[in-house]
Amino acid sequence: MNMDNVKVIPLGGAGEIGKNCTVVTQGDDMVMIDCGLSFPHEEMHGVDIVIPDFSYVVEHKKKLKGIFLTHAHEDHVGALSFLITKVKAPVYGSHFTIEMLKAKLSEKIDISKVDFRVFDSGEKIKAGELTIEPIRITHSIPGNNALAVKTKYGIVLFTGDFKFDFTPVDGKLTDLNRLSELASEGVVCLLSDSTNVEREGWSHSEKSVAEGLKKVFTEALGRILITTFASNIHRMQQAFDMAEATGRKVAIAGRRMEQSVDTCIKLGYMKVSKDTHIRLNELSKYEPHELIILTTGSQGEPLSALVQMSKDEYSRLKINEGDTVLYSARPIPGNESAIWRTVNRLFKFGANVIYDSPTPIHVSGHGHQEELKMMINLVRPFYLAPIHGEPRHQHLYCNIARNMGYPEHRIFTLSNGTPLVITESNATIDLPVSSGEVLVDSSGKLGVSNFVLKDRAALAKDGVISINLAYDTKKNCFVGGIEISSKGFSGNSQLLKQFASVLEDYITTHKDLKSKQNHDKQAMINDFSSQWLYKKNRYKPVVITSVMHLS
Ligand SMILES: [Zn+2]
Ligand SMILES: [Zn+2]
Repeated sequence: MNMDNVKVIPLGGAGEIGKNCTVVTQGDDMVMIDCGLSFPHEEMHGVDIVIPDFSYVVEHKKKLKGIFLTHAHEDHVGALSFLITKVKAPVYGSHFTIEMLKAKLSEKIDISKVDFRVFDSGEKIKAGELTIEPIRITHSIPGNNALAVKTKYGIVLFTGDFKFDFTPVDGKLTDLNRLSELASEGVVCLLSDSTNVEREGWSHSEKSVAEGLKKVFTEALGRILITTFASNIHRMQQAFDMAEATGRKVAIAGRRMEQSVDTCIKLGYMKVSKDTHIRLNELSKYEPHELIILTTGSQGEPLSALVQMSKDEYSRLKINEGDTVLYSARPIPGNESAIWRTVNRLFKFGANVIYDSPTPIHVSGHGHQEELKMMINLVRPFYLAPIHGEPRHQHLYCNIARNMGYPEHRIFTLSNGTPLVITESNATIDLPVSSGEVLVDSSGKLGVSNFVLKDRAALAKDGVISINLAYDTKKNCFVGGIEISSKGFSGNSQLLKQFASVLEDYITTHKDLKSKQNHDKQAMINDFSSQWLYKKNRYKPVVITSVMHLS
């Protein structure tokens, strides 16, 4: 393999929505684009977050010239704390991205050792032989950029998360001019967001949410609680604006959200009048119809303020009859049941919950079909590869490219770990590098294995059965009775009695057992028990056998 080839290797985010992370290599240089996390699906018991397997990067860490971030959403920056202690490379991002990141990272690691570098859109940053240029593009967060990586064979362009919003809340427009200039400089490959490829037409502007908010603000007679992501600065700004226009005050419930609002006000990314912004302990000074409360918990996160309120466990604020709760966030797939449980509990307390409305109370930050096509037309890439999408999104995106006249050999469906190799004359998919997902549990410990997950699933479903026996090595036989105890096992005591007697028969008749080592005895009894319980009633408890050897 020619060392000079350019390789684009997704380590996350290809064939999924989440944990976006791709490296681009050329000779001795490597840059990383984004370093995000994803959230576990429902079968991952006790897993809090999922991050990419960074072993490829750590193995080649000498080559790593920089980590470049498109924007501050968790699916683009959330895994950085796990990588940055293992590699030495500067972390580049917009002013907003870096400030938000610093606030978050400082809770986990000593950030004085991290080499943060703020870039401006349009700046050209050298990373060995590669040059990276951030280009301003609209999404649902300030300081968002597409990243153009200039290689010897042309520009590899990462759109990052984008939509073409012509009336963004902060008035900062996409640099369409620069994007079209890239076309004449030569975009060899476009790695495009494909999240909303199933939706026809154009996405709604962030500003259109103002209409929906206005309707709720004028119709609600009591307090209004709005739940959204702590990172959705634009939505929170809109809530403040609307509060000011309708004479309400805004308080914030949720530490992360309060922190992010305070940081944004300090840095000038949010404009809020001092009179409007109040603290939670001042709520009692005002009438219900004078109040807005912004809160975390839109995804049903167990420790968030809204979820605690829904269980009457949040001491600083109780849900009252007549409150309106507005969900201004799209559910992340996998969180639906937790969200519905919260919504139902809120209704039980007498709140009116609005999670869907004919006038939008939430818009997506990802462009629809026409915007994805517009991007292709603007930058006219030679090769195309959709990322930030599940296989069905990638499939649809490829169809769109075909309909736009792209021949098969110029369209690639990438998956995590498989390099796209670009040479002077062609592009091909290479053999996979080591990649995968690392599960992180609530203690922040890395690497919950599949074994552990299987046990947790079995424990959750059928509980645990423990079997205790004693074996006399002098007399060469089991002595005493069999002690069986269970926790969370769904079979009744009758069944356990029957099981005990079957097991008794097994250990007395199964002569083989006697000659075995202790741990083999335990394993055989485990296997026998699991099989019998499964045959009996499809039970799959975790079985723990312990045989004590007496001599
Ligand atoms: Zn995003
Ligand atoms: Zn994203």
